[in-house]
Amino acid sequence: MKTFSTILIAVDFSDSSDNAFQMALALADKFSARLLILHVINEPIDLRGFYVPHISFERLEEEIEQGAQKMMESFCRQHIGSFENYESMIVPGLPYEEIIKQSEAKAADLIVLGTHGRTGLDHVLFGSTAEKVVRKSRLPVLTVRLDE
Ligand code: AMP
Repeated sequence: MKTFSTILIAVDFSDSSDNAFQMALALADKFSARLLILHVINEPIDLRGFYVPHISFERLEEEIEQGAQKMMESFCRQHIGSFENYESMIVPGLPYEEIIKQSEAKAADLIVLGTHGRTGLDHVLFGSTAEKVVRKSRLPVLTVRLDE
C-alpha cells in the first residue's frame, strides 16, 4: 500500500488553510509522516529599491519576517497538539513557486492546500495559488475545501 513519509502543508493563516492543516495533521499522524509547515511571504520583490531606499526595504523585510515567525509560532502552538514530527518553514517569494520548490527540495510526497486563501473569492472553484500548484506540481496535491 502507498504511504506518505513527508507531507507539506502550505499555510497562509486563513480559515481555509487552518482547515486543510487539520487534514494534513491527521494524515501525518496516520502514516507516521513528517509534517512540513510552509508559509511563503508574498513580497513585491520587483519593487525593491524603486520607491524607497534599499536600507528601509531591508528593515521592512526584517520586520515582516519577524512578524511571520511570530504568526507561525502561535499557529503551531494552537494547532499542533502533541504531534512532534514537524518542521516549520518561512520563505519569501511567490507562494505557488515556493510551495512546489520546497516540496521538491525536502522530498515531500504529498502537498496539502486549502482550496482558497486569504483573498477569498468564493465564486471560483480554486484560488490562484491552489490552481497553479495543482497544475504545475509533479507531486500529488490534496486540496481541502472549507464548507461554511
Ligand atoms: P489561494 O489559491 O491563494 O486562494 O490559496 C489557496 C491555498 O494555498 C491556501 O489555503 C493555502 O493552503 C495556500 N497558500 C496561499 N497563499 C499561501 C502563502 N503565502 N503561503 C503558504 N501557503 C499559501
